[in-house]
Amino acid sequence: MNAVPNSPVGRAPLMSLDHAMADLLGRVEALTSIETVATFDADGRVLAQDLVSALQVPPHDNSSMDGYAVRAADVTEPGQVLRVSQRIAAGHASAPLEPGTCARIFTGAPMPAGADAVVMQEDTVEVGGDIHAVHIHAVPEAGQWVRRAGEDVTRGAVVLARGERLSPTSLGLAASLGLAQLSVLARPRVALFSTGDELVMPGEVPPEAMKPGAIYNSNRFFLRALLRRMGCEVSDLGIVPDQRGATLAALKTAADHHDLILTSGGVSVGEEDHIKPSVQQLGSLDLWQIGMKPGKPFAYGTVRRDAGAGAAATQACHFIGLPGNPVSSFVTFLLLVRPFLLRLQGVPANRIHALPPATTLPAHFTVARADKRREFLRVRRNAAGGLDLFPNQSSGVLTSVVWGDGLVDNPAGTTIAHGDPVSYISFAELLA
Ligand code: AMP
Ligand code: MG
Repeated sequence: MNAVPNSPVGRAPLMSLDHAMADLLGRVEALTSIETVATFDADGRVLAQDLVSALQVPPHDNSSMDGYAVRAADVTEPGQVLRVSQRIAAGHASAPLEPGTCARIFTGAPMPAGADAVVMQEDTVEVGGDIHAVHIHAVPEAGQWVRRAGEDVTRGAVVLARGERLSPTSLGLAASLGLAQLSVLARPRVALFSTGDELVMPGEVPPEAMKPGAIYNSNRFFLRALLRRMGCEVSDLGIVPDQRGATLAALKTAADHHDLILTSGGVSVGEEDHIKPSVQQLGSLDLWQIGMKPGKPFAYGTVRRDAGAGAAATQACHFIGLPGNPVSSFVTFLLLVRPFLLRLQGVPANRIHALPPATTLPAHFTVARADKRREFLRVRRNAAGGLDLFPNQSSGVLTSVVWGDGLVDNPAGTTIAHGDPVSYISFAELLA
């Protein structure tokens, strides 16, 4: 644990984000169930096995231009005339090139044996308008405009490794090896619920009829969407009332059939809420005070499963309690829950970083008062190549993360002057 300088005597020191991250990742083991899915449906899933290429890509030398395939040595000076001895379109076989001739060829078509270069169409003129012979106006170099067999993938190569999270382009690469199906890790099953008696679901009460103190449940919407983006199967248990019985019941049922229970709200210190005692009663709970802003309160624990939950089931379900303030909830999801879910899905721990590499950009704002916690400021890149700060950095102001396109990772105790270089992390990288 990293103590924060000047932390008031008697108060537990805050845990550093890096420490929290390492601790959290140390508590999770990758799911073991594997399933086979269509390559079309595998975006965002994690590979359960190495993909080894059974072929080379491209399978044969082919032309990267529309033009004429030649033996480079046959063309020694510009303006030479060659007879066109065959025509080769993409997807069609070619015959060996007759010596002293050229072959009409199109992009992607296999090179005829004996040819070693392509002269692009623009450097040729048909002789007397006849398509059977051409003037070659540029002397070719051997290998020009030829894509070599295996230049993308060689036979036997590990093209994508086990534990790799698939992206749209990796699906294309798998398809180029002829793979219509892929073996991937099971989706994490996540039970999501919100706590707080002040919460009302949009659609249930119109804005004009909201009771004093009531607010709409916004966390539920972005947490559910974030979980889905992370490849989870989400059971949305809605708003669980602030009552012990209801909380216990929700946790118990969720534990048997899920890998993770994720809640928002009710994890601040000293708060009278039902999550803490309920998780403690059904398993164990560690409340963490993380040295970050927003997002200080964070809870991790486990909830025991019923003996009848299935022989394959492990003994307990993971529990993560996020803070209720929407911005805190969002930021702790990105920095802690996201890596946790990657690990659960089988991404190796050494490939998981709580924070993607930061870019250094100039601050076009000031932070006059240093915070004693490491702060993640909501900012946006501007046209001048700098960063603007959202004026209201309160952890309840969700507009800041919608207006912003990223975070500035500002070390504890640091002020920022206009023009200072700061570490910027784009949301795009954290949401990918
Ligand atoms: P808590 O962590 O429960 O103390 O909540 C902190 C703040 O976040 C309070 O102002 C809550 O009203 C608010 N809050 C808690 N849950 C939600 C939610 N699901 N949607 C929007 N605001 C919430
Ligand atoms: Mg609450």
